[in-house]
Amino acid sequence: MARLGCNCGNALRDTTDGETDVYYIFPKEEITREIQKNQELLFWDFHVDRETECDYWYCHRCKRMMECSLAKGVVERIYKPLRISDSDKNTDTHLWKEFYSYSDNELFVLTEDNFTKNYKMTLQEFYEKYPRKFFYRISPDETRIFAYETTTQKLAFIYGQEEWTPIDPDIQK
Ligand SMILES: [Zn+2]
Repeated sequence: MARLGCNCGNALRDTTDGETDVYYIFPKEEITREIQKNQELLFWDFHVDRETECDYWYCHRCKRMMECSLAKGVVERIYKPLRISDSDKNTDTHLWKEFYSYSDNELFVLTEDNFTKNYKMTLQEFYEKYPRKFFYRISPDETRIFAYETTTQKLAFIYGQEEWTPIDPDIQK
């Protein structure tokens, strides 16, 4: 079990016996590139073979999202919710990089459910059909993240990068 201390004082965990705090980020660019290479690629194979440099922790108390470097074992970047301004609503983000985010629990349900039905979902099916409440776009300088509702395409919330010097975050494994 891994733990992580949030700036707000909350202790985050990666256990699956309740609310999980670990998230997986899937860049649209990476998904579409892999589908182009192999349309038959199974979601599960894609997911377990990915070499990710970071994992992502979400604090349910203060809604901060923390990016942790797996190699260095430190929190690299922190994002926290910002109030949406009028100029945000008019910002054109179509050219920003897009990504999707799933919690450990969501992915567990997804894979477990498919496993019991003996259904092997391809990455393409995951991309095109698997439900997600929000999609995200990150600004070119990576200081802001806009979240849009998938069904309405409306701006739902915004994250901004918090000033932060990476230090030992008290991760205990
Ligand atoms: Zn927190």
